[in-house]
Amino acid sequence: MAKKDAKWTEKVLDGLNKAHPDAKPELDFTNPFELLIATILSAQCTDKQVNKCTPALFRDHPTPESMAAMSEEELGKYIRSCGFFNSKAKHILSACRDIVERFSGEVPNTREGLESLAGVGRKTANVVLSNAFDIPAIAVDTHVFRVSNRIGLANASTVEKTEVQLMERIPQDKWSIAHHWLIFHGRRVCSAQRPKCDECTINELCGYYKEKN
Ligand code: SF4
Repeated sequence: MAKKDAKWTEKVLDGLNKAHPDAKPELDFTNPFELLIATILSAQCTDKQVNKCTPALFRDHPTPESMAAMSEEELGKYIRSCGFFNSKAKHILSACRDIVERFSGEVPNTREGLESLAGVGRKTANVVLSNAFDIPAIAVDTHVFRVSNRIGLANASTVEKTEVQLMERIPQDKWSIAHHWLIFHGRRVCSAQRPKCDECTINELCGYYKEKN
């Protein structure tokens, strides 16, 4: 296992930055409300697919008030191709009603407020906090979980523990961008089934690679 001091962490983050200088959120949005809805839709669905659905949805229903006024059936027509659209429609309508009734029509910018909305768990709250409100957070999705535990940035069996360990190891000002680096690395290089370790720019630092070799 690689030695994991601050210098090692810095080298890993530097390597990920160099490998993915274009890392950024892949969901299209122009405000916190759009990001919240897009993130709810992205569960079990690709960002690309969500980005195909949302332009028409946000054009026709740009506010929580407008979206909350739809029936489940109406909303379902916009989001059908995102999968699990019935439950996603229920969550979105419930979240929109909450935003209107409890938050004066504004998406809350606190973890507590976000997690009180239907369909919003810790990961979604972290995505919205960091990308819409610039509040440091690390959303641990399947890529972040796999890649960070392979490299050795974390050594945890759950996403919750992984998030805590990443927050302890990574400087706070890099939490949000490190989240994107890890996602891009997982999509492009460190895939679940066939990680391209020989092409990986940080293989000399990676615990998984050292164990395999
Ligand atoms: S060396 Fe392999 S396992 Fe480690 S980060 Fe790179 S691709 Fe993933």
